[in-house]
Amino acid sequence: MAVENGYSVESSRLVSPQEIRGDTEENNLRPKTLADYVGQEKVKENLKVYLEAARLRGEPMDHILLYGPPGLGKTTLAGIVAAEMGVQIRITSGPAIEKPGDLAALLTSLQEGDVLFIDEIHRLSRQVEEVLYPALEDYALDIMIGKGPSAQSIRINLPRFTLIGATTRAGQLTGPLRDRFGVLLKLELYSPDELASIIYRSAGILGQDCTREGAYELAKCARGTPRVANRLLKRVRDFATVLGDGIVDKETAQLALKRMDIDRLGLDELDRSLLRAIIELYGGGPVGLDTLAAALGEEAVTLEDVCEPYLMQMGFLTRTPRGRCVTRLAYTHLGLPLPKELDEENGQQSMF
Ligand code: ADP
Repeated sequence: MAVENGYSVESSRLVSPQEIRGDTEENNLRPKTLADYVGQEKVKENLKVYLEAARLRGEPMDHILLYGPPGLGKTTLAGIVAAEMGVQIRITSGPAIEKPGDLAALLTSLQEGDVLFIDEIHRLSRQVEEVLYPALEDYALDIMIGKGPSAQSIRINLPRFTLIGATTRAGQLTGPLRDRFGVLLKLELYSPDELASIIYRSAGILGQDCTREGAYELAKCARGTPRVANRLLKRVRDFATVLGDGIVDKETAQLALKRMDIDRLGLDELDRSLLRAIIELYGGGPVGLDTLAAALGEEAVTLEDVCEPYLMQMGFLTRTPRGRCVTRLAYTHLGLPLPKELDEENGQQSMF
């Protein structure tokens, strides 16, 4: 992420799926029950069974790993699991647990059955991870006392708890840590219909008048991500209040999106610059991620985690072993002439 005055540039993007400073009402908008949690049907169905089974056996839920891009509802789902089990949740993140002692303090403060939620769990240090293993397997902490030959290991029993780990990069988790999760759930990007329901629900909570068409218009531009959908709603609400009649309808939504430089498919200036750079500087690709990031003055991780998943889902970008390439759709969307190879391919395809 590019950092300016200690504040990331990425965080100023309205369509960023990561949490930004303006997301103050996020907690109010979080659904509290599985029934209110929109979409992710497969995940919900399975989770319902696991929760019910744990309840019937009178045991805590098995440890759960949630993975998928930011803003899709991992923290929300962890809160729902705790609420459905009737237990407390402690929320922390991988980088916040610096030393094994920090984790020991957290674990010993839990009550029987509690949920410990660790966001960005792939960023735990190796030493902290090692303390976590016996905690997950045997609900125990092994602590070394003293140094050298007289050092002794003592074991402290912990209450039975459920770890819910969240990560945007399941591939970066070490094998031993991944193997200790009994339940792995992958969250997928949401459809415009699902996002429209989320926007409509959020508008109700915020006391904002919103039409179904208005919600759908925003949903189409929300990059498959509830966090972006809620943020767009809040900005469009400003336009509705100041420039319209206070109602978020289709026209206000279109006007606001245009003013915010978000196009009809939810791409913002950074997405378009990325596609344009591949086309104009590298002949449509392939180009390596680091080269591209340097050309745009952005961090590679921002492009990879934030722009690319959506651009790939929309069919504008492909990742090949030799680098990133744009597709014919990207040229069309940007209104740029197709290069000869793609044009010929087009001609050949249309012959069949
Ligand atoms: P993550 O932890 O994956 O980054 P969060 O759980 O913080 O995402 O969700 C971001 C926001 O999106 C929350 O404010 C929540 O209100 C909303 N949200 C996420 N998933 C859903 C959903 N399935 N239904 C309704 N709102 C959702």
